[in-house]
Amino acid sequence: MRGLVIKNTGSWYQVKTEDGRLVECKIKGNFRLKGIRSTNPIAVGDNVQIIMNQEGTAFISEIEDRKNYIVRRSSNLSKQSHILAANLDQCLLVVTVNYPETSTIFIDRFLASAEAYQVPVKIIFNKVDAYDEDELRYLDALINLYTQIGYPCFKISAKNGDGLEEVKQALEGNITLFSGHSGVGKSTLINALLPDIDIKTAEISTYHNKGMHTTTFSEMFSVTGDGYIIDTPGIKGFGTFDMKDEEVSHYFREIFETSDKCKYNNCTHRHEPGCAVRKAVEQHLISESRYTSYLNILEDKEEGKYRAAY
Ligand code: GDP
Ligand code: ZN
Repeated sequence: MRGLVIKNTGSWYQVKTEDGRLVECKIKGNFRLKGIRSTNPIAVGDNVQIIMNQEGTAFISEIEDRKNYIVRRSSNLSKQSHILAANLDQCLLVVTVNYPETSTIFIDRFLASAEAYQVPVKIIFNKVDAYDEDELRYLDALINLYTQIGYPCFKISAKNGDGLEEVKQALEGNITLFSGHSGVGKSTLINALLPDIDIKTAEISTYHNKGMHTTTFSEMFSVTGDGYIIDTPGIKGFGTFDMKDEEVSHYFREIFETSDKCKYNNCTHRHEPGCAVRKAVEQHLISESRYTSYLNILEDKEEGKYRAAY
């Protein structure tokens, strides 16, 4: 029987079968996953085959290929990862232009890592009720920028309810992860969208107790229209990954599109002659802030401290 993993307690999984039953499952056999050493072979969002037993519980016997997944490294020393969730349809990144300000560098790093993890992002600009004229103008400029690059944007107030209907519609039929800095209003938003759900978006420290991660629990909540919201405490971004300098631009859509016209095909768009990207920045065809974020990732990589999404 086929089902969807909607809860992972660390010792057992709750699977929703295709006929709508909730079944408590354990793992049967040994799952080996390609290319990743993980502390948990199965995560919320996985599509699995289960075999029922007499007690009304079941074994998970098979896991289907994932279209994507997000991980957290189990500790700084080990290469093992903890898979937080699989098969995400989208990530809704909640940001604010004030109270607190989300920097464009944070947004762009987040978008770049989402590209690498192949998770589509929509950006939610929250707290529109609280901004003055200048902040609203800046907000519209950002919306203009990111919409043009291809990231849908929403302008909302989780506090007074503006724009929530559109966000609700975006949840339908999708597995959604909410992300964003602490304080931008994720809990307020989710509570406003789904008052019946007790969501734990509070960010907790991922590494305490000598590098051991403490959270293995994750859960997805059903939303109307056959969608799910992933609730995994402590997720801020998509985890870490290594890449070559010339690969960073692959994750900045407009830079990547322009790089076709660079003189050298391994151009990093810094000092190389005949760089079409630098020229496009000078001509204001590519935004200065995006280019700055791009350079910022390259610099951090050089110092060996690049961590995707942060
Ligand atoms: P989280 O850390 O992202 O989950 O953020 P919270 O939901 O805890 O919200 C942080 C603070 O921002 C709280 O004091 C909320 O009341 C406030 N807040 C959330 N949404 C809005 C909004 O749309 N407008 C205003 N003015 N404040 C908001
Ligand atoms: Zn170039």
